[in-house]
This record gives sequence, structure tokens and C-alpha cells, in this order.
Amino acid sequence: LIELDRAHLVHPVASYRGHERAGVRVLKSATGATVTDATGHQMIDGFAGLWCVNAGYGQESIVEAATRQLRELPYATGYFGLGSEPAIRLAAELAERAPGDLNHVYFTLGGSDAVDSTIRFIHYYQNARGMPGKNQFISIEQGYHGSSTVGAGLTALPAFHAGFGVPLNWQHKIPSHYAYRNPAGNDPQAIIAASVAALRNKVEELGQDRVAAFYAEPIQGSGGVLVPPPGWMKAMRDLCRELDILFVADEVITGFGRTGPLFACSEDDIVPDLMTTAKGLTSGYAPMGAVFMSDHVYDTIADGAGETAVGHGYTYSAHPVSAAVGLEVLRLYEGGLLDNGRKAGARLMSGLESLADHPLVGDVRGRGMLAAVELVVDKQCKTPLPPAAHPSRRIFDRAWDNGLIIRAFGNGVLGFAPPLCCTEAEIDAIVERTRMTLDQTLE
Ligand code: PMP
Repeated sequence: LIELDRAHLVHPVASYRGHERAGVRVLKSATGATVTDATGHQMIDGFAGLWCVNAGYGQESIVEAATRQLRELPYATGYFGLGSEPAIRLAAELAERAPGDLNHVYFTLGGSDAVDSTIRFIHYYQNARGMPGKNQFISIEQGYHGSSTVGAGLTALPAFHAGFGVPLNWQHKIPSHYAYRNPAGNDPQAIIAASVAALRNKVEELGQDRVAAFYAEPIQGSGGVLVPPPGWMKAMRDLCRELDILFVADEVITGFGRTGPLFACSEDDIVPDLMTTAKGLTSGYAPMGAVFMSDHVYDTIADGAGETAVGHGYTYSAHPVSAAVGLEVLRLYEGGLLDNGRKAGARLMSGLESLADHPLVGDVRGRGMLAAVELVVDKQCKTPLPPAAHPSRRIFDRAWDNGLIIRAFGNGVLGFAPPLCCTEAEIDAIVERTRMTLDQTLE
């Protein structure tokens, strides 16, 4: 398998370059929070795949729901006025639970195309209002919004920008709220004021009549789990309303119990104009993303389109098997997984905080089952570990050998996003194996 893989299967190339153990590790099976590789080595999946298997592995009821749907109706397009029962029911169930009036759901295949879809819907919205010139979009440094051309352009991570003309000329950024290394210091009010001023200035610079929307993750995930201070989302949301800019919350990571509630926006006490989700929506058992639109956005598009065609869609939008999975996953969340995730998340945070005195740990941050530990050589100066000392892949390898999968970001940040089904013992093991991995990194 390793030879075949090397010869034929393309992985995210950069993460393997120059690494001795660059061969693929073949995963064989998984149950609960534990995955087993082809050699029989078992690990706790502290990252739930790619922050997505929120419900944990081996959930029989999800397998049954998918199988039932595969037998009954494996495919139905959302085009030509067609629909399928699971897709319709899932949209209704989600609308009922989404914050405020986010009552209209458009299904995609994942997060990137959910973000792409918002861009198109927002163009339709501004056109319908007679404001086609409102076509500039703003997002945040260290944000991640997908790997498509449009999503990569909204993303502000250099690795996603090499050589294909992104960010596009209508995509703009403001600095992140990243507290640990914030030039404005780590005072929450100062951080909020700096972000508000940055967005206000950017909109002034571009012209209020030209800016269509602002994108924010409730917690910046791929940028290194950067948690804004309480009140940050609300301040940005209010500013967008004042400036007549749509506020898009990208909940692809934070949605579906990752931070505690079903949606992080509820905890932030805001209702965005649009919201994107994926990952935990189907918990990795089937590909699916969802765009939520508020009544006023949807109604404006629907009423304002007039004779103009407003086309959009993917072959696998609203896939009935994914929708059947989504319905069952939702049932599991509400049948105890969200509660367990909240308890496990509190234990994870306090466990990781107990690592704060480790010589390599500069910062511990997170909310619920979404957390990060930032590694430094010098706590006072916050000097990042020199690249030679922490090729992220090496830390990943050590953790793997210690029976733990974590995300080791290139900038010395370790990411944690375990399945919500984790037991107390599994959470404790994640913390202990992380400590062991850090100790070995010191040696
Ligand atoms: N938005 C955010 C906030 C994400 O974290 C991701 C994926 N990590 C995406 C969008 C893109 O989702 P996908 O990988 O499913 O296309």
C-alpha cells in the first residue's frame, strides 16, 4: 500500500516534503475516539480526523441511516424543483436550531464550496437591491475559508496563496485579533477596539457603497485556534450592521458542538446574515456543507431576482445519503453528545492549562473541544521554537508513536479537536501523551 500510495495518490504535498518517514500511514479502522493503523498501532484521535468526526467513529446508527437511504434513494438532484425527504427534513431541523432567522439552508459538499456559494448569493443579494457595485469582500489575517480559488483568496495563510493570483482583486484583509502576539497588547477591550477600527478604516478606504460582506470565524481554526475576546463577534457584527455590510460567520469548524453549543454564534449572542457549516454537520461520515441564510437575505434574492436567472448548484448538492447521515448525527448530538462534549471540553481545557508550566508552552487557549498549545523557546520574549527544532511533522510523529493524533501547525502551534464522545480517561490520556511528547521534544 505504501508503494502504491507513493506512486499514485497525491496528498497535500508540502507537508510530506523532505521528511524521512514521509510514507503514508494507512488507517485501518476506528471506534469511538480510537483509530488503529494498518500495523495495529492504536491512537486517540485528538483531532477528530480534520476537526470533523465530532460524533466519534463506529456509530452504528449513522451507518444504518446511510445504508437505508442508499437502498431507498441514493441520489436526487436539487435542480428542476426536485427534492428528497432527508434533505428537506434536515434543512427544516437545522433552520429550527440555527440562531435567529437563519431559516434558509443551501447544501454543498463541504466547507470550501459553502464559502464559494455565499459569495455568489451575496452578489445576487446586492444586485437585487440595485447595488451591484457593492462587490468587495473583507476577511481576516490568519483566517481560513477553504481551498477553492475563492476560498483561498479569503484565506490569509501564505501556504494557500502561491502563484495563482489570490487574493483576487476584490478580496481584502484586516489584521487578526490574535491575542498572544497582538501589537495592541492582550487587553480584551483594546483588541476589540483595534479590530473595530481596522474594519471601519478598511471600509472607508474601499468605500462603504462598494463593500458587500465581512467574513469571520467565531474562533480562527487553521490560523492556530485563535480565540477572540468575549464581545468581539458582537462588536464586529454590530459594526457591519451600522455600515450596511453583510456579516458572514464561518462555522465550518466551530459548528456542531465543537465549542459547546450547536453553533458558536449562539454563545457569542449574535445572528449573522449568513453562516457556513460543514465538518460536524455529517461528522465525516459523508461529505456535506451548508450555507444558512437569514430571511432578509433569502427573501431579497428570491423576490429581487425577477426575470434574471440566478443559477447556482453542484451535482451532489443536498445529497440524500449525506442528508440522512446529517439527520442521524443531529439526533446523536442532542441525545447526549453535546452534553458529553461540554464536560469533556472543560476537562480538556483544564488539562491543557496544567501544561502551561512546561518550559516549551507559551500559550494555552481554546473553547470547548477546540484548543491549542503554542510552543516557544523563551516564554518571556515569546520566541517561537526555531524551525529546525520543531518541524511540525516531527512532533506529529512523536505524538503518533505515543498513541495520540494531534495537529502540529507549522508555526509551533499544536491543535486539539477530539471527538465529542471522549471519555474522561481519554481526555486525560490526550493531555498526558501531549506532555510526554513535549518532554521528548525538549530532549
Ligand atoms: N472554512 C473553515 C473555517 C474551515 O476550517 C474549512 C476547512 N478546514 C473550510 C472553510 C473549508 O472546508 P472544506 O475543507 O470542507 O472544503
